[in-house]
Amino acid sequence: NQPVLNVDSLKTYFYLDQDQVAKAVDDISFSIYPGETVALVGESGSGKSITALSIMQLINKPGRIINGTILMNDTELLKLSAKKMTKIRGNDIAMIFQEPMTALNPVYTIGNQITEMLRKHKNLSKSEARIKAVELLKTVGIPRAEEVIDEYPHQLSGGMRQRIMIAMAISCDPTLLIADEPTTALDVTIQAQILDLMAEMKEKFQMALLLITHDLGVVSEYADRVMVMYGGQIVEQAPTKKLLRDTKHPYTKGLLDSLPNLDEEVDRLGAIKGAVPPAHDFPSGCRFSTRCPFVMDKCTQSNPELQELEKDHFVRCHLYDNGGDTLD
Ligand code: SF4
Ligand code: MG
Repeated sequence: NQPVLNVDSLKTYFYLDQDQVAKAVDDISFSIYPGETVALVGESGSGKSITALSIMQLINKPGRIINGTILMNDTELLKLSAKKMTKIRGNDIAMIFQEPMTALNPVYTIGNQITEMLRKHKNLSKSEARIKAVELLKTVGIPRAEEVIDEYPHQLSGGMRQRIMIAMAISCDPTLLIADEPTTALDVTIQAQILDLMAEMKEKFQMALLLITHDLGVVSEYADRVMVMYGGQIVEQAPTKKLLRDTKHPYTKGLLDSLPNLDEEVDRLGAIKGAVPPAHDFPSGCRFSTRCPFVMDKCTQSNPELQELEKDHFVRCHLYDNGGDTLD
């Protein structure tokens, strides 16, 4: 089983003033297999978005990918020319962002934007593209598609705009869809609809999905596999059920404890004390050591390696240096 995407030893650093280096993504490796939904989870500032933008090669100065390989099927993306990479974006990998308004152009109608994309990638005539665009809008559940196609982004609700983004993403049959916090800006009731739509489109168009979220609730519902990121590194990775049932890393545990629990009205804020350290100023040793309730001496001395504790279950934590057991 060949992965759709293989990221190996990726490092994306930002060269700030005063010789400071922000290690936003610091040596991460993972694969995504055909049809899989993989969640990338962590608080904001943990490196999730930079990972996605690195795959898309949308990293701007002072940021730079300084190490690693990114294989899409058999193509090494980091070796492609800018022109070839532009073709990959949209055709093979599509991305949906948190705020669709930033990705949609306010001065063009919805129809203009979708047909432009279809014409560019699919070589359709103007009238063919318009027919296809209406069809796509219907596919993603837009009512009155024949009218909406001539409307402007600001005339639509946030949920509708995100549906448009999904329509644009699937318009070129990508093999991989990357969704970065696709529902964070939406009302709670709309969030589930959009996630359900993405799951449905994933099946229908046989895509793999990299779902970036800070919400483990979303993960439990939609992801096959989870990677938890902290301080620019993967700290735990496992199939979803395993990760939720047999949580190993103190950070993952903290994220789970901060989930709203329907049964009890507990004070869930501050389940993880303190803040994510800035990427130019990680603590020495384990990057979670400044917030970890289990911190030991050796945690501040060396950063643990990511080790495979059980089949498919990877953890980066000194608690498991000698095998170790589950946290509780
Ligand atoms: Fe906590 Fe130490 Fe494990 Fe880091 S290595 S997560 S500080 S126990
Ligand atoms: Mg982000």
